[in-house]
Amino acid sequence: MKVIKTKTEMRRIVEQAKAAGKMVGVVPTMGYFHDGHLELMRRARAECDVVVVTLFVNPTQFAPGEDLEAYPRDMERDTEMAESIGVDYVFAPSVDEMYPGGSEGSVTLVQVEGLSSVMCGCSRPTHFRGVATVVSKLFNIVPAQKAYFGQKDAQQLAVIRRMAADLDFPVDITGAPTVREPDGLAMSSRNMYLAPVEREQAVFLFKALQAARGLIESGERNSRSIEESMEKVFSGAPLVDVEYIAICDSIYLRPLEILSGEVLIAVAARVGRARLIDNMQFKIE
Ligand code: AMP
Repeated sequence: MKVIKTKTEMRRIVEQAKAAGKMVGVVPTMGYFHDGHLELMRRARAECDVVVVTLFVNPTQFAPGEDLEAYPRDMERDTEMAESIGVDYVFAPSVDEMYPGGSEGSVTLVQVEGLSSVMCGCSRPTHFRGVATVVSKLFNIVPAQKAYFGQKDAQQLAVIRRMAADLDFPVDITGAPTVREPDGLAMSSRNMYLAPVEREQAVFLFKALQAARGLIESGERNSRSIEESMEKVFSGAPLVDVEYIAICDSIYLRPLEILSGEVLIAVAARVGRARLIDNMQFKIE
């Protein structure tokens, strides 16, 4: 496995692989790997000839006061983990390499309207603009035919799918299922911020979603009833400060009063220093 630091070298490697008829897959990440990241890499490894993992903590998706500086980083551990999966290249550029003119001020930004301003976009109004911008840059630097993202970040996946479709990026996007800890907590690099007592209550995001799933399986289709039962679950976890519960369609993220079609139920909550998100998706005939 090779670690690549420059855009020029990375693009040349991918162009050469494609010219040789290879299928290239890219897994964009911010590093500090856990099994959720590794699952995406395994999937890419199974489906592609050449696998590129990008590792870049992107400053433009963090607002001032968010956890950019505190975000966990461990390049050595990450490269060992990626190598153990059989990844071919880790693209780990510096901030200067990605944003040579600086990441503030006069820059081109990619804004996916609508989808970026709901749910997590309410408390993080510039976040998805940063994500869409860096992912479009990565799609140009690593012009892979396939790209892999986690359904855990359902809104991010919706934004990226929309961006790729609207800007005609010739890349096939796969959304892979959420990988969870044994008790159900969705794996996240930010779980390391949790104190033990917060970690115990963090699982209530999953418990609330499970309650929603139970109701849906027993035939409930009214989103207000589902939301109320989720709120009831959260009342048992005083350390979980719920930011939102969203019940919407999974493509346009439009709120649903009555569940039908491709339904996304998503939650965000602050637990101590950590801001956690989770979701489940349902296909309702
Ligand atoms: P991050 O490094 O947190 O930006 O995540 C990189 C990629 O891994 C994104 O596509 C995430 O959606 C995905 N991901 C993060 N956590 C999980 C998880 N628990 N299960 C599956 N995918 C995940």
